[in-house]
Amino acid sequence: METKFWQVSRDEPQQDIIELAALMIREGKLVAFPTETVYGLGANGLDSQAVQKIFAAKGRPGDNPLILHVAEIEDVYTLARQVPPAARMLMEKFWPGPLTFVLPKKELIPDAVTAGLDTVAIRMPDHPVARALIKKAGVPIAAPSANRSGYPSPTQAGHVWDDLKGKIDGVLDGGATGIGLESTVLDMSEELPVILRPGGITKEEIAETVGKVYIDPGLYDTKQVPKAPGMKYTHYSPRAQVILVQGTPENTARRIREMVKEYDSCGKKVGLLLTTETWEKIKNIKVFYHKNIGSRHNLLTVAHLIYSELRNCDKAGVDVILTETYEEQGLGTALMNRLLKSAGHHVIEA
Ligand code: AMP
Ligand code: MG
Repeated sequence: METKFWQVSRDEPQQDIIELAALMIREGKLVAFPTETVYGLGANGLDSQAVQKIFAAKGRPGDNPLILHVAEIEDVYTLARQVPPAARMLMEKFWPGPLTFVLPKKELIPDAVTAGLDTVAIRMPDHPVARALIKKAGVPIAAPSANRSGYPSPTQAGHVWDDLKGKIDGVLDGGATGIGLESTVLDMSEELPVILRPGGITKEEIAETVGKVYIDPGLYDTKQVPKAPGMKYTHYSPRAQVILVQGTPENTARRIREMVKEYDSCGKKVGLLLTTETWEKIKNIKVFYHKNIGSRHNLLTVAHLIYSELRNCDKAGVDVILTETYEEQGLGTALMNRLLKSAGHHVIEA
């Protein structure tokens, strides 16, 4: 299939392009679009056949439900049977933004969207292109990340092109995404608010509005099944092996030097994705690929760069990626969740 590629202004998306893309969504086609988290692969969320095409294009397991994207808070009431007052308060505070709500679903939502569950995930993205597209399409847009299933999420239109060219109908290129990590998934379908996936809005921020917030124990306890079906799958993994090195900047730097030597001696190409603080300790080192992914004191930069740098390592032909761990608080919680998955939980103490 021919995949259209449109360059579109982030702040003032061209009406004619948005109209064309929205028409394609209404016709049951697949269009990828930028959001403030990552690029999404969109289809008409009320059209079961269109939604099934998303799973086929990505190679996504059919039991992993999708998020419906809306343009207004009022749209939630057409999709969810109940919206608790606390959820409404959070929507008013954080929408548009990277917070997804799991709520009891209404009948009109096809089973393909929710993987047969009685709940549906809903979010309003904070990106002019995404919102213009949803508004113009006039339907909720079902959209997971626009990558081949299991691979790091796309933060640039080029990543979508690399993964899905020929398998989808179009890509709206609105430049690099903002946060670079996916939304927080918050279950509000039962009495207590539970985070099913950490993301762009932190537990601490949610707690400020609703008091106590719980975290799905299945995220940390391997004996329990996570409540978000997607959290049980391998994810965010480049072709190269990813290893996380944990310790003070001094110890991390020393251990990484040793590891680079060891890998060198057996002919393996190493990529280093390290923070400014660790680079300061490592100083000069000869290595196949390297990148400073920002300071530990500003995880926004690290989050913004991490997926595209994992992809860049693959493009360069790296065999082993060595990168670091972060404290699990604030955005660090989401970052560690993604890094541990991409490394298959391979962590080395420095
Ligand atoms: P993504 O693939 O990034 O769009 O991720 C969506 C995440 O939300 C996945 O982990 C899904 O399993 C999860 N999710 C979507 N709908 C539901 C739902 N109704 N209940 C629980 N988790 C959901
Ligand atoms: Mg995804």
